[in-house]
Amino acid sequence: TPELKKHTFEAEVAQLLHLVTHSLYSNADIFVRELVSNASDACDKLRFEATNDDSLYEDDGELRIRINVDKDAKTITFTDNGIGMNEADAIENLGTIAKSGTKAFLDKLSESQKQDGQLIGQFGVGFYSGFIVADTISVESRKAGETADKGVRWVSDGTGSFTVEPITKATRGTAITLHLKEEYSEGEDSYLDRGKIKRLVNKYSDHISLPIQMRKEVWQEDEVEEGDDTPANGQMVLTDEWETINKASALWTRSASEIEDDEYVDFYKNITYDMDAPLTWTHNRVEGRVQYTQLLYIPKKAPVDLYTREQQHGLKLYVKRVFIMDEAEQLLPMYLRFVKGVIDSADLPLNVSREILQESRDVKSIRDGNARRILTLLASLANSEDSDKQEKFAQFYSEFGDVIKEGLGEDMGNQERIAKLLRYATSTNDKVETSFEDYKGRMKEGQKAIYYLTADNLAAAKNSPQLELFKKKGIEVILMTSRVDEWAMNFLTSFDETPLQNIAKGAVDLGDLQDEAEKAEAEKAQETMKPVVDKLKTALGERAKDVKVSTRLVDSPACLVVGEGELSPQMIQMLKQMGQ
Ligand code: ADP
Ligand code: MG
Repeated sequence: TPELKKHTFEAEVAQLLHLVTHSLYSNADIFVRELVSNASDACDKLRFEATNDDSLYEDDGELRIRINVDKDAKTITFTDNGIGMNEADAIENLGTIAKSGTKAFLDKLSESQKQDGQLIGQFGVGFYSGFIVADTISVESRKAGETADKGVRWVSDGTGSFTVEPITKATRGTAITLHLKEEYSEGEDSYLDRGKIKRLVNKYSDHISLPIQMRKEVWQEDEVEEGDDTPANGQMVLTDEWETINKASALWTRSASEIEDDEYVDFYKNITYDMDAPLTWTHNRVEGRVQYTQLLYIPKKAPVDLYTREQQHGLKLYVKRVFIMDEAEQLLPMYLRFVKGVIDSADLPLNVSREILQESRDVKSIRDGNARRILTLLASLANSEDSDKQEKFAQFYSEFGDVIKEGLGEDMGNQERIAKLLRYATSTNDKVETSFEDYKGRMKEGQKAIYYLTADNLAAAKNSPQLELFKKKGIEVILMTSRVDEWAMNFLTSFDETPLQNIAKGAVDLGDLQDEAEKAEAEKAQETMKPVVDKLKTALGERAKDVKVSTRLVDSPACLVVGEGELSPQMIQMLKQMGQ
């Protein structure tokens, strides 16, 4: 036809197309997600435009997406009744890469990264992903509010060029038809399998809030002649009826007050494969620098790999209800790696990659928001009068207490909130239940520091010679016995303005708690013991940094002390275990 016009793709599109078709064969499935999300966007756009101009609906206000598989033609068609495109729109939107971020990202990828289908798959290649599976894509569209004769047909084989021609299209919106390549229309990898398309929609797009529909299939029995009583045969036949195949309602988009606990629990199990119900959860719409919805769960039990470095963590990320990625680790600090859930933000681009997430200030603001929310949730359990909630906190602490201690070093901004959640055994109470606040409430008159001791286990801590003087004086000492304590306490030097002091490190000054007589005696001892000290120094040589006369011992003759700011034996052991 004379009206058929040929256009060449913008250079970047050609480059992207080349990447898509050469690197993404192992991620072929993503075209379903991309085309459904474009259709959903188109409906969102129409809905938005129609808020000012109702007539755009053209008596068809029920927005929906339809997917039709045609086995004979070897095509899949995605149809929507959204905003649609005219010729100029199609040339612009399908022939260039509009987003400058996408271009920049493409430029940044190294040659080897470009070969990595995984990487490009995550970055999201949008409409062009269709060319992974199709050797020709044809798009027929008509823009909402324009006349039927202003329709356009866009066709390309995904190499260097595309054509456009005017068509008459009565219905508003877009139909995108993929003519499947041979390897994707036959055998195992065939997308002509309706069940497969359905599964992919459920996997990636279940939370699209629009109905996604496919043709209904029914069982049709063969006609049987009267009097013939052999069992009837039959077959599945496609009808002209459409059925909705997605749930069309993302739990987190609903208002918290309308969601039953059961629904929250089911959703949790669905996204985690955890058999247990979660310990607790928090669900909020956050308005601020970035707008997003957060649905965060704390599991009941710690996973076995909580302390291994390979541990996967992070939240599911959605952008406008479209699934983007699992385990988006940028959305949570490391010390909250046990938290599960979903973040959905309309402010992030749909083609966001892990690399982009890493650099995004919006993502940082979401991460901070998540951390604060979890710490607030935990504080509300810890400080509750309700014994149920206290019990939940104790349960939480026994599973995850050691992990949140890492936050003392990792998240300085929340150090105080984290410190308030910590619980320990002490020299007067074996149960891991004393907070720094409790301890302070029991401090002796004149006591100026919170004293603590780190050891491998409770028995070792309780028998430590360092504890003797404190016992004698009736001063309580916090006993820290987990692997991370020593490291974590490097970052916490005071609590609520009271200094924290490790009694195994450096000089312990009991201040007002040490009476004058004792001080005088200590000074005298320094004198009389000098010959002994000198002898010991010579005898120990390199093996001891210093030998001092101490007042900290009551029953034991001697003890090892670590210098202020040096690694203790526990710390050295922990680093060794971590393979450092
Ligand atoms: P993105 O969705 O990130 O913008 P895509 O490559 O997926 O990038 O799509 C490119 C553009 O093509 C979209 O921005 C939109 O303008 C247009 N487009 C794609 N699919 C449709 C559709 N079904 N209806 C209307 N416009 C569409
Ligand atoms: Mg898109």
